[in-house]
Amino acid sequence: MIIVFVGPPGVGKGTQSKRLVSHFHLVHISTGEMLRRAIGEGTPVGVEARDYIDHGRLVPDDLIVELVGKRFETFPSAQGCLMDGFPRTITQARSLDGLLEKLGRRVDVVIELVADREEIRRRLLDRARIEGRTDDSPETITARLEIYDRQTAPLIDFYRKCGSLRQVNGMGTPDEVFNRILESIRS
Ligand code: ADP
Repeated sequence: MIIVFVGPPGVGKGTQSKRLVSHFHLVHISTGEMLRRAIGEGTPVGVEARDYIDHGRLVPDDLIVELVGKRFETFPSAQGCLMDGFPRTITQARSLDGLLEKLGRRVDVVIELVADREEIRRRLLDRARIEGRTDDSPETITARLEIYDRQTAPLIDFYRKCGSLRQVNGMGTPDEVFNRILESIRS
């Protein structure tokens, strides 16, 4: 099973991804984590990505597609996978379809996690205090939410047309949200 997880920053994708990955024994592909690792290691990709991330902008599609393409080279062909934070643009979604086609696979389920904007801002500001991520300042949070609406939200329609979209309410406790996600996958 190949699951794509979509939703604005702070909606709880990180928390729910961990649960999904261990519940279904999935390979976890988080482009945000891959990029943070690349920055930490000072690789060429990391050096190029850093400025975009720190300003809350999306890293260019070609860089991301190359990163994910490399990751797929070592992807066990029978194993399920959770795509977390990728794709974030229609171009990336089309590239993902191409990468999967080569493996004889396709996206099975797209889960969109939905929550109030006020709640999302509050969660991101809390996370900024706890984790000290460089892209969680109030200005960057505003930029990331705007970019989500402009560049990533159109993906929802793209996947709705494919018939694979499931919308899940992300408000409530992590357990409540996880149970809703499981139900949406079963339905
Ligand atoms: P969040 O969903 O909380 O914003 P992520 O960890 O998924 O956090 O991503 C952090 C940042 O990394 C994004 O704001 C963006 O700059 C960059 N990034 C991650 N994934 C992608 C992607 N698929 N395309 C472009 N940029 C990305």
